[in-house]
Amino acid sequence: MTEERSDAWAAEAIRRVGMRGPQTVPTPLRRLPLPGIRGIEVYLKDESAHPTGSMKYRLVRAMFREAIAGGAIEAGTPVIAATSGAVAVAGAHFASLLGLDFTAVVPARTPGEVLARIEGEGGRWQVAERPPAAVQEEARALAERLGGHFLDHFTDAERAVAVCGEPTIADEIFVQLGRERHPVPEWIVTGAGTGATSATVGRHLRRHGHPTRLTVVDPENSAYFPAWASGCGDYTTGMPSRIPGIGRPRTEPGFLPTVIDLMIPVPDAASVAALRWLRTVAGIEAGPATGTNVWGVCHLVARMREAGVRGSVVTLIGDTAGPYLNTHLSPSWVRARGLDPAPYEADIERFFRTGEWPI
Ligand SMILES: *Cc1c(COP(=O)(O)O)cnc(C)c1O
Repeated sequence: MTEERSDAWAAEAIRRVGMRGPQTVPTPLRRLPLPGIRGIEVYLKDESAHPTGSMKYRLVRAMFREAIAGGAIEAGTPVIAATSGAVAVAGAHFASLLGLDFTAVVPARTPGEVLARIEGEGGRWQVAERPPAAVQEEARALAERLGGHFLDHFTDAERAVAVCGEPTIADEIFVQLGRERHPVPEWIVTGAGTGATSATVGRHLRRHGHPTRLTVVDPENSAYFPAWASGCGDYTTGMPSRIPGIGRPRTEPGFLPTVIDLMIPVPDAASVAALRWLRTVAGIEAGPATGTNVWGVCHLVARMREAGVRGSVVTLIGDTAGPYLNTHLSPSWVRARGLDPAPYEADIERFFRTGEWPI
């Protein structure tokens, strides 16, 4: 292939990946009704509206653009990811858009429905031979063997989003909130998986001098809350999170604790309770990490109410309920994990009705 042709491929590939580029349609900002509370508005930025149903679409798009721009992905380069989660679904989506082979190295016992979503976007999967903690190494080795590109979201997503030059989730939030009653939110609330989203929002707040503060909610077993609280940059729990997309057994390189004002550890049963409440009462079909976000929001809204502060709070719908109907949304699955969401459900229900929150 000549130099000229490879440049032409890259230019066309960047155009395709950013297809919604200049005319990018921001994901919707939805308002959560708070009948029991006056003067405070809660908004949910609906990241499940992306074509692959999750906020990882944004991260993976930025990673593809950076890999193409830097020559790591060229015509015919196979792309490999080390997850069965939303990154694999989005990776398969963008690879297929570019006519590239995509393989997800997935942990053993990944449910069939999850694998079907990767296939649905035109990707392949293979079950890792090594234990879950070594799946990344296996994917990296496979990429080397194939002369392919390893889509290493824990290492690369944060930087790719920071430099890719597209409007970030924070840019979109401030534009959309500009039309609302309290255009500069008191708080923005998110979870941390790669850490890219919280880093993007935190940097945006500082760069623009906004008084808005950033809260990161963190599930059980995650290294992020103890890392933030202790200032220990390489904190490890070695335990997997039960809330897909957020919480990590170790502090990943994209996690930027210095831009986070508050972290709230959230019990997994509380995340499940908020997830159920969202679905049955608010009619919002979200994934478990959105439950974690909403639990954190309740806490912050209660603090604002207590202090007589009016204003807005923004959080995210990170993905959709669909993939979790047989897991987090199934009472028997939840029970089998020893989780009891009932007391937390009662707290949430009372909070949205009356504004009362247990300390
Ligand atoms: C990945 C993910 C997050 C966290 O985003 P990062 O930018 O990776 O930290 C939150 N919620 C859901 C549903 C996710 O999939």
